[in-house]
Parts: sequence; C-alpha cells; structure tokens
Amino acid sequence: MHEIYEKIAKLKKEKDAVVLAHYYVPGEVMDAADYVGDSYYLSKIAAQVSKKAIIFCGVYFMGESAKILAPDKTVLMADISADCPMAHMASADDILKVRKEYEDVAVVCYVNSTAEIKADSDVCVTSSNAYNVVKSLANKNIYFIPDENLGRYIAGKLPEKTFIFNDGYCHVHAKITAQDVVSKKSIYPKAKVAAHPECREEVLNLADYIGSTSGIIEYVNKTDAKDFIICTETGVFYEINKKAKGKNLYPAANGQICEGMKKNTLDKLLNVLINFDNEVRLNESVIDKAAYSLRRMLTLAEEK
Ligand code: SF4
Repeated sequence: MHEIYEKIAKLKKEKDAVVLAHYYVPGEVMDAADYVGDSYYLSKIAAQVSKKAIIFCGVYFMGESAKILAPDKTVLMADISADCPMAHMASADDILKVRKEYEDVAVVCYVNSTAEIKADSDVCVTSSNAYNVVKSLANKNIYFIPDENLGRYIAGKLPEKTFIFNDGYCHVHAKITAQDVVSKKSIYPKAKVAAHPECREEVLNLADYIGSTSGIIEYVNKTDAKDFIICTETGVFYEINKKAKGKNLYPAANGQICEGMKKNTLDKLLNVLINFDNEVRLNESVIDKAAYSLRRMLTLAEEK
C-alpha cells in the first residue's frame, strides 16, 4: 500500500499535477490527494492552483467545473465514467420555457449539473453557499435546478422570493426516509441528527443540523454529543473519524453510498498519472458561458 502512495507522489511531481478529492471517494484515495473537500471548497481550489494539471477524484461534473474555472490546465478524471445522475436532471428546453413564462427570473443551478446546464444558467450554487447566493440576487423569481430538495430547503429560508422547482434529486439522499431516522433515534435516543439539504423535507424536519458535507463534518467535530445519526453519503465518516475521534456515527439508512464516487480507486489514480488520459474536454463557448455562472457564484458567496 505504501508503495503506491510513493509512486503517486513521484508522478505528481514529475507531471506537475495536483490531486483534488471529494469527501465521498474512498478514504485511501483521499489520503493520496493534495486537497480534500466538498464541491465549494474544491471549486475554489481549482480556480487557484498553479500546477499544470488537475487530477480529479470525484464525479464528472466536478472535473468539468475544474476545467471551466481553470481552462488552461489539463483536467483529468481518475475514472472518467464516474458520474452523478442528478447532474443530468435538468434540461435546456425547460430553462427556455421558464425564461419565457416568468419575467425577472434567475436560473440558479446547483453545481451538481452538466457544463451545458451551467452555461444556460445565471448563477451556480453549492449546498454551502446556496442561501447566501440566492439571497443576494435582485431577481424575485428563482428557477432552481436540478435538485428539488435543496431548492425547497433554500426556498423555506427565503420567503420573499418565488421559487420554481425542477424535479431532480440525488438518489443517495432521497432514499433516506423519516421512518429511517425515527427508527435509528429509537436505538440511539441521545444521538444528534445531521442531514444534508439534498435529503427530503420529512428528513430535514427531524434534523438537529442541516448543512453541506463540510458543515456536517464541522458540526460533529464541534458538538459535545457522542452519537450522531448521519443523513448523507457515508464517505464523510472517514474525515469525521480523523477530525473528531471517539464519536459514534450511524447512517440513517442502509446503503447511503454514491456508486459514482466509489468508482475512484488508488490504482485508477496511479494509472491516470502514468497515462495522462481521461481528459475532460469542453467546447470553448460552453466554458465561457459556464465560467460566468461559476465565477459569479464564487464572487457572491465571498461577499457575504
Ligand atoms: S451523492 Fe448524489 S448528488 Fe452527490 S455525486 Fe453522488 S449521486 Fe450525485
């Protein structure tokens, strides 16, 4: 095991590459990365790094975001088939329809979306900054795509806006039910419930804390309780266990696992560093338009 980390480190230097990994990839892959984080953090890093190449351990839309924010760099995916189904659950036709139907509408696109959808949107958001970004928009009407659950959660905090929802969802989070949480609570009555806003409203209503992946990690770390029922992908357990030793973490449901994220392995990371394949390629006009939405997000999120 040690040997593969040495090979990866050597190749990173030789190829002037930096490795970015999301909290949902396997722990041993996170250990080989230069930066580990949620989508918001990783997009900020992608926009800033000075290395010639970015190797992404995550799902495809994350590699696309890195390419959009750093178009002069070579962006490679550890596994180019690692995909997020929700990223495809919004359509350019629906955006056009909504733009025609509603005046003063902002198309707000969760980063978990394809580059083409970002290009057709007015601004992007992540679960970390969605509230601040949407709040700062002058528009009254918000078409929130693709995730309905996140959209409804943010809408509940911004009653002054009119939200139009799309029916996208993350299957990993949407499968968690209120009954799952109630059952776990009956086994661990003192446990605090931490949920990602991609969960259904019925689950969020039972949560002690609602926040992004990074937010959940921080919440567990800073909260005195010992037991936590976690309503997000269980990849976060790895980082929590590093930061907050001695906590008991229980997934709310069985199988809170993102298959796309778990396609990332150390062997694949090593191979992509050797072969320099799996490149993310986007056409220039998509990059230009999507960069506007992503950069606007970074600016608006930082202003708050
Ligand atoms: S956990 Fe859900 S939203 Fe995140 S990458 Fe996987 S399928 Fe997409």
